[in-house]
Amino acid sequence: MSALPPGSTIGILGGGQLGRMMSLAAGRLGLKCHIYSDVWGPAFDFAAASTVAPYEDTAKIRAFAEAVDVVTYEFENVPLEAAAAAEAVSPVRPGPKALEVAQDRLAEKTFIRDLGIPVAPFAAVDNTASFDAAAAEIGGAGILKTRRLGYDGKGQVRIGSAAELPGAFDALKGVPSILEGLVPFAFEVSVLVVRGVNGETRFYDVPLNTHKDGILDTSTVPSPISAAHAKRATELAAGIAEALGYVGVLGVEMFYLGPDAAEPLVINEIAPRVHNSGHWTQDACLVSQFENHIRAVAGWPLGSTERHSDVTMTNLIGSDVDCWATLAAEPGTALHLYGKPEARPGRKMGHVNRIKPLTA
Ligand code: AMP
Repeated sequence: MSALPPGSTIGILGGGQLGRMMSLAAGRLGLKCHIYSDVWGPAFDFAAASTVAPYEDTAKIRAFAEAVDVVTYEFENVPLEAAAAAEAVSPVRPGPKALEVAQDRLAEKTFIRDLGIPVAPFAAVDNTASFDAAAAEIGGAGILKTRRLGYDGKGQVRIGSAAELPGAFDALKGVPSILEGLVPFAFEVSVLVVRGVNGETRFYDVPLNTHKDGILDTSTVPSPISAAHAKRATELAAGIAEALGYVGVLGVEMFYLGPDAAEPLVINEIAPRVHNSGHWTQDACLVSQFENHIRAVAGWPLGSTERHSDVTMTNLIGSDVDCWATLAAEPGTALHLYGKPEARPGRKMGHVNRIKPLTA
């Protein structure tokens, strides 16, 4: 496909802050966005057009896909039927395959393992009959995670021994789950890879990520990972993107086991979309992850992923956002607010990028 010219419209399934920041980036390139979501969301403030309808309403999805030039998404739980209905009318990038894999932790881990890429040990726990086999496979301690709809540490329970598995399964209401072995990581990193329609891939520098209460707290670049291991991380991410025939930005969360580990990097999970651990690219790179996602899905040449500054991104969760005026006055700090009406606990309200001169 040739590149969509300025003035074209990108359809985005999902109306959250990621869609909002994608719309802002698209706007700078003279592209318009049409947001489709089942409820109002912060992306609607910057949309040229919007549709509020259930994702299950395939007639509305078709009409939306007909009104746009390409369809993308900003969350991984877009129903597969919605993506298929859109794809019958318009290109969907990244394709439905990425959704299918990312929506189910068992499918995701199996897909990545089968590529020969390291993942945490895992076993399916579909019902009480699977307890013994899963416990034998993983051993004592682990994390039981629901196969579907888990995010930000939700839908998971840590267990100290196999004896705690029945209680954990009950706590997750007995839904199909996987038991993962604990990875003894030194710290967590992620790769933001962008892949164009022609298969070209580019990477941002690998951030060090910290979490608070299961939610991403900070992403810092440069991270203490060695250049060789950063390269390995990008190669693993590229392998996944390629196997998915991916177009757009893919976030790949990884555990880093330290410089002396035989296998230094283990994949935790993938996000088939722009990713929170890439928000620092807005102010530390010439072309942000949001713009590069838009460029990729619109068939444009990919933009520079080079970093011109050191940076720490800090999420503003819930009432953290109350100090927006102080943050707005802080030197070297770029403030991003999502325009959400209510600062509920655990809700992502914005983020700040604290910029320093480039050191490495
Ligand atoms: P997730 O929602 O799967 O990304 O998990 C949330 C957080 O729990 C991760 O960012 C890790 O800090 C931790 N975690 C998840 N899975 C494992 C694992 N297999 N071993 C050790 N820590 C984990």
